[in-house]
Amino acid sequence: MNTLRIANGRVIDPSQNLDQITDVWIRGEHLIGHGPQPNLHPAQTIDARGKIVCPGLIDMHVHLREPGREEDETIATGTASAIAGGVTSVACMPNTEPALDTQAAAEFVYLQAERAGNANVFPIGAITKGRQGVELAEIGGLVEGGAVAFTDDGSPVVSAEIMRRALEYTRMFDKACLSHAEDLELTKGGVMNEGVESMRLGLRGMPAAAEEVMIHRDIELAGITGGRLHILHVSTARGVELIRRGKERGIRVTGEACPHHFTLTDQCLRTFDSNYQMSPPLRTQRDIEPIIEGLKDGTLDVIATDHAPHAPE
Ligand SMILES: [Zn+2]
Repeated sequence: MNTLRIANGRVIDPSQNLDQITDVWIRGEHLIGHGPQPNLHPAQTIDARGKIVCPGLIDMHVHLREPGREEDETIATGTASAIAGGVTSVACMPNTEPALDTQAAAEFVYLQAERAGNANVFPIGAITKGRQGVELAEIGGLVEGGAVAFTDDGSPVVSAEIMRRALEYTRMFDKACLSHAEDLELTKGGVMNEGVESMRLGLRGMPAAAEEVMIHRDIELAGITGGRLHILHVSTARGVELIRRGKERGIRVTGEACPHHFTLTDQCLRTFDSNYQMSPPLRTQRDIEPIIEGLKDGTLDVIATDHAPHAPE
């Protein structure tokens, strides 16, 4: 079997506590070593100078838009772009049309992913039927179909009672409920972060509190149910702090940050470029720093892309 040498890349592998410029050796589908290997004779060498060599990345917050909006994205196109970026596994959100709220829908995602033959795809099931927030989806059936977690992402679960039942029910399967934390009354009509910039531009804002009240609510609900809660796309300083306090109390809460929320601010909207409009919105420099701090100290557990971010309704 032929031996492949990936030469002189920056090899990063947290599982091996490895971060150094070195060679990686591969035979067939197996990694057979790193560093100088005088006894190995590569059939092929890839020059990885200036590049990062690491295990395939996992993006746990991706919108593949299939079924229903194939003109925007399909499972095949989304996973092709994942692979191009070094991401070999993605978890896809259920805000498709129809929503991923049945066992058959979850199975469909696996089938399409297999047909595409790109990245591994793990469907996330809807918490409520049609993501309408009224009635719990077939949680058990979705687990059968391979759903790895549950969320109504794109929308919050407005009813605290339903969110409570979702946390109780998913707990039986040891699956997490993923919270798109947004109080829709507070964000109604908003197109950007509420603050100095929105005032300057004369645009209606979405206050940080709209996110924080829901994070707070869901952490309390995770506390009384013992369910696993994950807060999606945390964008505010106080949001990070709420998760930190929740963890200190022993509540099973994890958090996620998206690159745009810790690299860009609402000042980007000064050009009126609508590419900078998203939900939750880009916030301020005073939010960016605590998010980075949260990533460093482990309050925020993952970086996910939220590809592509939700447009504000
Ligand atoms: Zn969301």
